Amino acid sequence: MAVARALVVHGGAGAVAEDTVPARLLGCREAAQAGWTVLIHGGSAVDAVEAVVVILEDNPLFNAGVGSPPNSDGQIELDASIMDGARGRAGAVAAVKRIKNPIRLARRVLQDQRHILLTADGAERFAQASGMTLCDPQDLIYPPPGHRQQRHGTVGCVALDRAGRLAAATSTGGIANKYPGRVGDSALIGCGTYANRDSGVSCTGIGEAIIRVVLAKTLVDLMRLDVPIQVTAKQAIGILAEQTGDAGGLIVVNQRGDVGYARNTTHMPVCWVREGGDLVTDI
Ligand code: ASP
Repeated sequence: MAVARALVVHGGAGAVAEDTVPARLLGCREAAQAGWTVLIHGGSAVDAVEAVVVILEDNPLFNAGVGSPPNSDGQIELDASIMDGARGRAGAVAAVKRIKNPIRLARRVLQDQRHILLTADGAERFAQASGMTLCDPQDLIYPPPGHRQQRHGTVGCVALDRAGRLAAATSTGGIANKYPGRVGDSALIGCGTYANRDSGVSCTGIGEAIIRVVLAKTLVDLMRLDVPIQVTAKQAIGILAEQTGDAGGLIVVNQRGDVGYARNTTHMPVCWVREGGDLVTDI
C-alpha cells in the first residue's frame, strides 16, 4: 500500500551567528528539495537521505565534508552513518581524511554488508577498493587558512518513501579541536543515527553526551508509546539534558509520515516536507 512520503533535514544544533541563519536555512531547503525530488521520482528513502547529505557535505557552510573543523593536529577527520530501517541494515565510517563525501562511503559499507563501521585508513582502502577516488585532505579545508569561518553544523536527514521504508543519515566533521582519532555519535548506529520499520532519527550536538544516552535508539524506542511526535522528540532531548547536562538536537519521522524535531540549543536549522505540502523551514 502506498504511504504518505515525508522528509526532514537538519543543519546542526548549536548557537550560530544570526547573519548566517538565512544561508543555513536556504542550504537545508535546497538539500530537502533535492531529497524530495528523489522520493517523488520513486527513489528509496535510502537514496533520498544520501542525496540530501551529499549536498550538505558539499556546502562549506555546514560542518560536514568540505568546511569541517580541524582537530588538534590541524587535520580534518570525518564521521558519517546511514541506516536502512526497512532492512535493518547500516553502514558507517569514522575518522576518514581523504573522503569528500563520507556519506557515500557509508552507503557503500551498508551495501557491502560485511561490516557496519570502518575507520580511518581501512575505510579509505575500502573506498578505493570499491571504486571511489580519494581526495586531497586540503580539498576539505574551507575557507583557505586565515579566513574566519564559524565551524558549525553537523547535517542529517530522515526520509519515508512511498513503499513505507524509513532511512536516516548523519554526517559531521565532529567537534573543533577534537583529539586526533576521536569518533563521535554521528558514526555510531543507535547514537547519532537509527532507523527501523517504525521510525528514523538523526541527532546532532555534543557527541560524547549523545553516545552516553544512545539517543537515536532511545527516541526510536520512545516512539512506540504513540504519543504526538513533537512531545516524544522533546522527551528525548529532555533525557539528554537530564542525564548528561549537555545540549543537542534531533529530527524524527514515523511510519505515518509525521515529522518531529527538538533541540535544547538556541538554533537548529531544519527543513521538512510531507506529501501534499510545501517545504517548511524553522530554526
Ligand atoms: N554530534 C557531532 C559530534 O559530536 C557534532 C555536532 O552534532 O555538532 O561529532
